Parts: sequence; C-alpha cells; structure tokens
Amino acid sequence: MTMKISRVGNTVFISGIIDENADLSALLQEQAPLSIDFSGVTRVNSVGLRTWMRFMTLWGDKPLNYFECPIAVTDQIIIIPVLRGIKKQVVTIVSGILPYDCPSCKHQADVRVERAQVVPKTDPAVLNPKCPVCSQPMELVNEDQLDIFKP
Ligand SMILES: [Zn+2]
Repeated sequence: MTMKISRVGNTVFISGIIDENADLSALLQEQAPLSIDFSGVTRVNSVGLRTWMRFMTLWGDKPLNYFECPIAVTDQIIIIPVLRGIKKQVVTIVSGILPYDCPSCKHQADVRVERAQVVPKTDPAVLNPKCPVCSQPMELVNEDQLDIFKP
C-alpha cells in the first residue's frame, strides 16, 4: 500500500509503506509543533528512510511529536537517531510499540509504551509487563529501546 497522509484535527496520520513513492513534502507547510500519528505505517524501506531524513533536514529545528509508532517505525528510530532531528533532537516520541520476550514461555509480544511511563522515571511495568500467555514478567528484547522516549 502506497503511503498516504491524512489529517484529523491537529494530527497528521501517515499510513502505508514509506518507500520510493512516499512524499513527505506536503508536511513542510504544517505549523509547528506538528503531531504525526504513525499507527498506519506497515513498513519503511531504505529509500523511504532517505525521504524521511530529507524531510527532517528541511523541517529543521521545529518541534515534532510522534504518536503510536509501530515497530516498523520504532525499530528505525532506535537505529537511526537523526530521525529524531538532524542537528538536535526535535522529536518527542509520545507513544510507540516495542517488542518483548517472555523468558518463561518464549512468547513474543508487542507492547505499547507511552513516554509518560518512561520519563521522568521508568515504570517497572514497562520493564517487565505481564506475559499474556503465562503471566510471568516479560523483558524488552533490548532495554536500550526505551531510550527513544527519553529527552
Ligand atoms: Zn510467558
């Protein structure tokens, strides 16, 4: 599915695949701070990443808020910090999905995490949410993933 941009109130929704067909230039007309909801994004490929980084360069140092980032997005932000700002961090990630493992039953689960659960202090429920299968505490696949919420 080609990337689409829509708007509800003050939030811009991006959905589909961010790839060679993705055009983020329309967003440059938006007022800051801009809130972007990524919940509909299914995939980001390498060409899409370049488009996204070019958008970040042109957008400059105005604030952006990212909501409901799926794993396709949080994975990229963990690896590529400039997606939170080229010269300085301008993006606040308000909510996103992170991957967890259950050491007891090996179940893997995607868990929604909110910035308010990590900043200023990490809620223990975020470090070890209950496994939906065996009710034992799960663990983040990589604890550094929580850094995407930190200032
Ligand atoms: Zn389990």
